[in-house]
Amino acid sequence: MLITGECFCGEVMYQVDGKLRDARSCHCSRCRKAFSSQASAYALVEPGQFSWVSGEELLTSYVGQHGFGLQFCKVCGSTVSGIYNGHVHGITLGCVNGDPDIELGMHIYVGSKASWEKIPEGIPHYLKGSPADA
Ligand SMILES: [Zn+2]
Ligand SMILES: [Zn+2]
Repeated sequence: MLITGECFCGEVMYQVDGKLRDARSCHCSRCRKAFSSQASAYALVEPGQFSWVSGEELLTSYVGQHGFGLQFCKVCGSTVSGIYNGHVHGITLGCVNGDPDIELGMHIYVGSKASWEKIPEGIPHYLKGSPADA
């Protein structure tokens, strides 16, 4: 399956020739800031299946502790991808075009959610991280 995505202005485009996995939404205070939203919405890609189609030179990176970072379009500000030690690790679901055939499988760090957010019912959610990551 070929998945495509792009930033708000459309200058940065990528494709994933495969399936996304581990789609999740993290409600911790750091992800809220990084995604400028109530939570992250993020899925992992297989390293060999991701490629930039255009606009890679317009990306700016912000790398935090532990080597994880985010890449965003410096024209429009969309956060398009996550990197780990300099390589694309996953993509933000908000910049994916169409139906990537995956759903958010869990909500994590719900214990740190914003006071104004209401967590949707019926999806696994955890006060801290996923038990699978422990
Ligand atoms: Zn852009
Ligand atoms: Zn988080």
